[in-house]
Amino acid sequence: MDLYEYQGKELFSHFGIPVSEGRLAETPEEALAAADELGGPVVVKAQVLTGGRGKAGGVKLAATPEEAEDLADDILGLDIRGHVVRRLWIESASEIAKEYYLSVTFDRGAKKALFMFTTQGGVEIEEVAETNPDALVRLHVDPLEGFQPWVARRLVYGAGIDDPGEQKQIAAIVEKLYRCFVESDAMLCEINPLIVTPEGEVRALDSKFTVDDNALYRHPDIAEMRDVEAADPLETFAREKGVTYVKLDGEVGILGNGAGLSMSTVDVVAHVGGRPANFCDLGGGGDAEGVVDALEVITRDPQVRSIFFNIFGGITRCDEVARGILAALDRLDMSRYPIVVRLDGTNAEEAREILADAARPNVFPEATMLDGARRAVELARSA
Ligand code: GDP
Ligand code: MN
Repeated sequence: MDLYEYQGKELFSHFGIPVSEGRLAETPEEALAAADELGGPVVVKAQVLTGGRGKAGGVKLAATPEEAEDLADDILGLDIRGHVVRRLWIESASEIAKEYYLSVTFDRGAKKALFMFTTQGGVEIEEVAETNPDALVRLHVDPLEGFQPWVARRLVYGAGIDDPGEQKQIAAIVEKLYRCFVESDAMLCEINPLIVTPEGEVRALDSKFTVDDNALYRHPDIAEMRDVEAADPLETFAREKGVTYVKLDGEVGILGNGAGLSMSTVDVVAHVGGRPANFCDLGGGGDAEGVVDALEVITRDPQVRSIFFNIFGGITRCDEVARGILAALDRLDMSRYPIVVRLDGTNAEEAREILADAARPNVFPEATMLDGARRAVELARSA
């Protein structure tokens, strides 16, 4: 789960990482009141779950509360890479002498937390990694050893910070960020930029914060931060139905059982030149009801032109899936979708008979995954 900047900063603050004072606003009037309360110049920041807001015109400085109100009016409703701005964070403006970058993320390959620090902050970290890799200090933390003070010192010296005041403040922030990362069950905590003010004060000016969904049950306070309105309505509907569903932007609706098979199906459809419309996993025990639910979700996507069922029966019985498909055809208006069905494994024979007996004009059985994918792609083109 990704957090908004202001939510990430709330957690930063909780762990003692310095941030600027700010207020949330959802209307220009609230922005005016917030700026008035804060006093002095403020920065009006779009709260969207995507980066690069500055470049997209979503971060603006205002000298007066009236200017903040005007800017809020401009920024609210702005579309930043598909994310419409509905919330603003109004923050006391900082004077910036230097912009650094600090993050801690979970490195799955190494099975360890990975710190990255560079004095080349303010720009995308991928850019630094490409153009100036030597400026980026990377350091793992061994989970058994836990955080050790030398980790912070190595990052700070490695990046060439020579001001003792900065060294001390950054080292303290590194340690707090690690605690924040571990205790929040985060997958990523990123501060870009971590600024130094002209007075030499170090502060987090931005936050990018991702929490492991599987650990949310341990953090009801963080789980509550989820903005249901911002979520894709189709994905919200799928969650309500208990269907594992991810929307993609092609035309072939995909249904598999098990995450591995479903992902492979997405790959095979792409491999034969098609564009998957989604990833949908029926799960292990996909019964007829589960199939109906999944089809209801998939057919709510107007981009879907054909549907490809790829089922390998194990715990899932193919005859159940076949009955589910027929039940869905009775209950939902599926006439405009060609449905390619590849069934193999437990009770596959029986399933094929059930489909053959029903003789639905828009159901196309195929024997293999590759043939099924080809057929579904073809049918999506001609549909
Ligand atoms: P992002 O573009 O989504 O990463 O948003 P940021 O929060 O990082 O803001 C983008 C840029 O705006 C920062 O890199 C700063 O250069 C600038 N900025 C943000 N807040 C302030 C501020 O309080 N004062 C000044 N002078 N610049 C700011
Ligand atoms: Mn940023």
